[in-house]
Parts: sequence; structure tokens; C-alpha cells
Amino acid sequence: MNDSQNRVLIIGLDGATWDVLDPWMRDGTLPHLARLRDKGSWGVLRSTIPPVTAPAWSSFMTGKKPGKHGVFHFIRLFEEEKAGTASQFVSAETLRSPAIWDVLGHHDRMVGLINIPLTYPPRPVNGFMISGLLTPKHAKIFTYPPELSGCLTDYQIDLDRFAGKTPYQDEFDEGSTTPTLEFLGEFRSMLEKRARASLDLIGLRPWDFFMVVFTGPDRLGHYFWNYHAPVNPESDNPELTDGVRRYYIRLDEIVGELVERAGRDTNILVMSDHGMGPVPPKQIHIATWLQQQGWLTARARRAAVPGPDIILARLRIGRDRLGRVMKWVPGLLKSRVVRRTINDRALAVDEQRSMAYSVPIFFNVTGIRLNVKGEAARKAAVQNLERNLSRISDPDTGKQVITEVFPGREYYSGVAAERVPDLIAIADPQYCFKHALGFYSSIVTGRQDVRGPAKHRMEGIFMARGKGIPVRTEPVRSVHLEDIAPTALHLMGLPVPSDMDGRILTEIFSSQYNRSRPVAYEEPRGFWPNPVRPEFSSNAMSAEDEAIIENQLRSLGYLE
Ligand SMILES: [Zn+2]
Repeated sequence: MNDSQNRVLIIGLDGATWDVLDPWMRDGTLPHLARLRDKGSWGVLRSTIPPVTAPAWSSFMTGKKPGKHGVFHFIRLFEEEKAGTASQFVSAETLRSPAIWDVLGHHDRMVGLINIPLTYPPRPVNGFMISGLLTPKHAKIFTYPPELSGCLTDYQIDLDRFAGKTPYQDEFDEGSTTPTLEFLGEFRSMLEKRARASLDLIGLRPWDFFMVVFTGPDRLGHYFWNYHAPVNPESDNPELTDGVRRYYIRLDEIVGELVERAGRDTNILVMSDHGMGPVPPKQIHIATWLQQQGWLTARARRAAVPGPDIILARLRIGRDRLGRVMKWVPGLLKSRVVRRTINDRALAVDEQRSMAYSVPIFFNVTGIRLNVKGEAARKAAVQNLERNLSRISDPDTGKQVITEVFPGREYYSGVAAERVPDLIAIADPQYCFKHALGFYSSIVTGRQDVRGPAKHRMEGIFMARGKGIPVRTEPVRSVHLEDIAPTALHLMGLPVPSDMDGRILTEIFSSQYNRSRPVAYEEPRGFWPNPVRPEFSSNAMSAEDEAIIENQLRSLGYLE
């Protein structure tokens, strides 16, 4: 085995945010995590665009942005449509780039990987791997080597409660995701199973690089956000609030045990794939804005009968105000016009005849595609939109609501970026983009119904503790997900493949360490063991499996 100073343990906390961890680390609730932060470097870890689990962990594992690895979302986005493509969802087979464990395999380093999203179907690694999120419920083989699946008799990848339900229309299924002690108990029991397998394997198997991802912070964030004491001290259910706190205390103990078993000199990284925050209370009617600005054309209506939006416009009642009006005017709900307005998901966009139209990417991230001929005209359109999108403001505060606008190619470049939108706009997470056309009281309005699971944020967390990493009181700035793989390779004394987008975080090391270990790069060597195409030990995904995954994603609020 290699010198333990060259070993790395990564503990992944899916969806962890400083907003929850920091107060609990300060008041002594999470002593093990607090000790890691106090003895090393830490900071905000910026996620991918969009900050969605699948592209985020893919960028971590490849050290690259989505344009190179090809995973933009849980569903296939920005790809040319290929005839007869099987799944609409991404999987390990979607990844077009080798992962850090391929690089480690080429250097004969042993890996142990547990529960990293998007590692199903499993493929060979130099060590062992247990696949994570998006593994079908009925998969018999979810490990490499395959025999390991048979040994994990009491292991659980995700909760069963969403399986087998008919898909629902709403954003989330209230029935199966209502925050209850029973629901929380299921997450707790899953945590124990994952901890047992991880603590056993970290002691039993040889490894140079060990990694486990715990999904609890993400799931508890989604379903129990209001019961996290640091973000909501005034809970309406003290039992649930206590349950969430105890979940974190147990998770912290497990982190402590893993660090202990990894050995004193092992380098430790703790990281999330994205952060978490409350549901946006307001919305930006982006398609309606594009229509008002003359970019977007609605599809012509069939009959001369005035549509609900025309009637609403005449009455000066925005769609956003409809709920309030209905409360004041009993019986209005029975009116045909109102019913049609609610049911009719607004006027449809005529993409062919529009010069620009919006494409949903994430709640506060939208793409804009242009239909403009000629390079000069296209450039002018991009500039015009960039300028004017930044000017959209909230009438309540006067503040601009869109914080970033940039050409899609600026962030998404690479072989996998085939149908990237011309522009990407990111809104403050207080706002979500709405892509329905209609008459609204304003381009920025409040939302009728601010419920549903909490939403992801760009800002995640990271901590690093190791021999060459001095204690820092100030957080490290500008750290991105794709920086973690090159930094881990460097910590292991290995060169970094030159095609990784991320950088080695040299600022976390002492100057003496940086002098003794110069940054080194190497030519990319491709997948391990086969340098051309990855081999998969199993690739069967049934229609039933697909339906279950669809349900699961819907319940997390990714599909509408
Ligand atoms: Zn996640």
C-alpha cells in the first residue's frame, strides 16, 4: 500500500449548505465536522450550471464542465436528437469523459467508491464501487466487482416510497413526501445501512482513494427544510425539528468514525454537489417578457372567440392575481373562462416564427434560443438581450432580478455541447422563471402557492484537511466543483490530465508543501482499463425502472 500521506478520503454530503452546517458547527452540535474545518481549509464550493445533482457530481468526477462530460441535467439536454435513442434520462453511459477513478486506475492506485450519483451501470474500477442515485430499484448488479452486490444484503440505495406510484401532475406528490417522523425515520435507517457498509469496507479493503456520498442533507433539505433549526428556529413541529437535528448529529458521528478509520495521515475532503435554500416566493414571466419585447410569437388561435388571456387583459386581471380574485368572487371558479385559463397552460409559443424563445433549464436558470439569420444580426440580438434582460426589475424592490446573462457557449463548450442555447440567464434564487405566455399584472410577480420542496443553490460547501494544508480562518474563494478532482490527484502525488477544466487549489497548501510538490500535468489517458470506451458490467434498464426513476425525479421537483 502507498504512503498514507498520499491517500485521500472524500466524504460527499449531497446538497449540504453552510446555512445549516455553520451554526451547528459553531454551537457544538456537529463536533466532528467542526474539527475538520478548524484544522484545515474550507469555503463555498460553486456548483455547475444548473446546480443539479447529475451534472454536479459528473463535473466533480471528471474535473470538467458539462460541455465536455455531456451530463447537463437528469434528462438529456442540449444533445442532437438521435434516432431510436433509448432513455430520456442520463446514466453512467452518458458520460463522455473518464472519471478520477480512471486516472487512478492508470496509476495503479486502488479506489473504494460508495453511492456516488450517476455510477450506474457499474463499470470496472481498480478496486470496488457501489453505484448511487439513478440505480434502478430492481438492479441485481449494482457493484463492481459484481459479486459484491450479493454480499450487500442489507444495503439500500434510495427509499422505496416513490416506487410504483402513478405519475402525478403537480410539482410534487404530497402524499409520499409530507414531512412526517416516519418519513424521516426511513432516511435515518438508510443512513445507518450506508454507514455500516462504508465503515466495514473502509477497514476491510485496500484503498488509496475512498469516497462515500451521503444523500441525507439533500433529501432532508428538500422535504424537511422548515424543520432545520438553523434556518427556521420557529418550528411548528418540534418533534420533526429535533429529528432533523438528530439526523445531522448521527451523520456527524459517522463522519468522525470514517475519518478515524481512514488513519491519521490521510487527507480528508468534505464536499457537497450544490447547496440548498427556500422555495422562491416570486416569478419572472420570461416568455411573456420576450413577447412584449417583440422577440417571441404566440401560435395563432383557431377560433375568433376571445381567449381567456384576452378577456383577462380586458379586465386587467393578471393570471398571477386570478387566485386572489377567485377568493373574493365566489362562483367564479365555475366560470368557463376561468376554468379554461387554469387548465389551458397559456398560449403556446411558435418557436419557428419567434426570433427568440426561452427554454427551461432550472427554476432560476433559463436558456434563450435565437432564430436570427446572419452573424452580425445574431451578435446584435445577443447584445440587445443581454442588456435588456439585466434591466428587468422587481416592482416591489426596484432591484434587478437577473444576476447573470452570458452566451451559452461561454460556459458550455466541448464535444458534448451540441444544442446549447444562445444565451443563459440566471436569476436571483428568490425568483423562478415561468415559461407560459399570458397576461400578468407585471413581468415579476409573487407566486400564488409558495409550497413544495426546497430548491438547490449554486453555493455548496467544501473542507480540506491534510498534512500540507495549514489552518485557515478565512474561507477560500472561487472554488468550483471541477477543481476537486485535480486537487485530489495532486494530494496523491499524481499529475493532472491536461484536459481537465478544474485547477489545483494551490492556495490551500503551505508554501513549503507547494515548493516540495510542484504542479504536474499529463496527457489524458482515457477510460480505465480500456482507453477507448468504458466497459459496463450491466446495462439493463427496464421500462418499469425508467418509470420509477421518473417518479423519483418528479418528487424531487426536477420534472414538471
Ligand atoms: Zn445533489
